[in-house]
Amino acid sequence: MAEISLHKPFPAAEVAGWDFETDVAIIGFGATGACAAIEAADAGAKVMLFERNSGSGGASGLSGGEIYIGGGGGTDAQRAAGFEDSTEDFIAYLKAAGGPCVDEAKCEHYGREALNHFAWLKAQGVPYRGNYLPGKHIEPTDDSTLIWSGSEAAAPFCDIAKPAPRGHTIQHMGWGGGRPLVDTLEATARAKGVEVVVDARAMGLIEDQGRIVGLVVRIDNQNRFVRARKGVVLATGGFVMNEEMRRKYCPETFKITTPIGDKDDGMGIMLGLGAGGEAIHMEQFFTTCPWTMPEPHAYGVFVNVMGQRFINEDCYHGRVSRCAVDQPGGKVYLLLDNAHFIQPMDFAQMTIAGTGDSWEEVEAELEMPKGTLSATMALYNAHAHEGRDPLFDKKPPILTPLDQGPFIALELNFQTSYFSFFTLGGLKTSAHAEVLDRTGVPIAGLFAAGRCTSGLPAWGHGYSSGMSLADCTFFGRQAGIGAARG
Ligand SMILES: Cc1cc2nc3c(=O)[nH]c(=O)nc-3n(C[C@H](O)[C@H](O)[C@H](O)COP(=O)(O)OP(=O)(O)OC[C@H]3O[C@@H](n4cnc5c(N)ncnc54)[C@H](O)[C@@H]3O)c2cc1C
Repeated sequence: MAEISLHKPFPAAEVAGWDFETDVAIIGFGATGACAAIEAADAGAKVMLFERNSGSGGASGLSGGEIYIGGGGGTDAQRAAGFEDSTEDFIAYLKAAGGPCVDEAKCEHYGREALNHFAWLKAQGVPYRGNYLPGKHIEPTDDSTLIWSGSEAAAPFCDIAKPAPRGHTIQHMGWGGGRPLVDTLEATARAKGVEVVVDARAMGLIEDQGRIVGLVVRIDNQNRFVRARKGVVLATGGFVMNEEMRRKYCPETFKITTPIGDKDDGMGIMLGLGAGGEAIHMEQFFTTCPWTMPEPHAYGVFVNVMGQRFINEDCYHGRVSRCAVDQPGGKVYLLLDNAHFIQPMDFAQMTIAGTGDSWEEVEAELEMPKGTLSATMALYNAHAHEGRDPLFDKKPPILTPLDQGPFIALELNFQTSYFSFFTLGGLKTSAHAEVLDRTGVPIAGLFAAGRCTSGLPAWGHGYSSGMSLADCTFFGRQAGIGAARG
């Protein structure tokens, strides 16, 4: 008798009897699983969704519910605010954001379909107010729709694609739009007849002559055998809470201390690997320390422990934070002058490391060699007065002199400040959400999407808010369509 294992599919020939039979079986009820279920049901398939928690949500339910959408001339919210957004610019940005890890086929597919995807989300009942909220925001503070959520207006991205804001958030007052987003998708999925089984943890896949034909789920402490006539969808999320996997695949994350998500233990990635799949870009992660709150802090300058700048600070807070974590010395400093300093929020756990009436005094208080930080700020201010940043190409109005004393250095410490993070690497899938084997051939009957795969948000340095849920919802749909096709 074969063992039930994450690492090797169980042979169908050894299944004594099927406890459940369905066309499509989906593992995981976050945004990805919900969208896969809706599409598979719409294609006429019988759909069962297995979730190990006692209800839907996962990381999706904890999220801001912001989705990265653009192209096609612009969404209604973009156009109403005067932003035109061509498909070419949108795709060019997606590709630049993917950096060295980019999956061009996924960027092309989503880039061409994003406007239709937005219409699809609305058709499932997801509400959008349709307005634009100017300024720098991590998530809308009210129920607004559209914000700048990436590095679109900053170098080098603004030279690659015409900038437009693309973060679209469900109408919901304040942060935390992910819960109502999942609730809405869940209601739609249930209305379409999707059968949801909670407290049901997938422990293994079932294989018949190279095809995935089902799964084993643990319910009430017993193994139950599920036959999936047409396909199985992995929608299980990432691996940020699995220290062993992080140590093996993503050790840089141990520099920082605040993983965010739900259980995120990488089970789906293990299941896919066990079936012959490949995991890619497993070293990639998103991180951010919320340094742009309060908003005047977005005008600050970052230096490392040697007093040197390392990034144009007008780009997305997550890109700045990710580049910060690359710096030596376990911390970086956010420099502000009296015109821009406000007491930082407690939850960011950024501390005041140095103050002074001149940048020389701040430099001395931080015990940096003379002429390091002070020279950096003298050069920065001289250029900022001329409206240019020849070193990093930071743009006005965020490029502004910091010359009104007293001056201050806030410490962003990798171990004690709030550097939240989640993983981006996962199974290699096609632009139609088929799990690919190590030769690039789809594994029959097996589909995956969301953070158990490497998708649109492939590169931590290029991440923009909304890219993960764009990837989860859109490629979740592709997985549902593919699985229902059989
Ligand atoms: C606080 C926070 C805010 C965020 N805000 C945004 C945002 O605004 N926009 C954005 O794009 N991204 C955001 N993200 C990231 C984004 O939420 C996640 O990357 C995304 O939701 C992952 O979705 P998923 O469907 O892949 O996984 P999940 O939503 O985590 O769903 C996976 C589900 O699978 C279940 N599962 C796992 N293993 C098994 C198993 N073996 N058997 C059965 N069930 C299983 C889990 O219990 C879970 O319910 C945010 C993340 C956090 C934590």
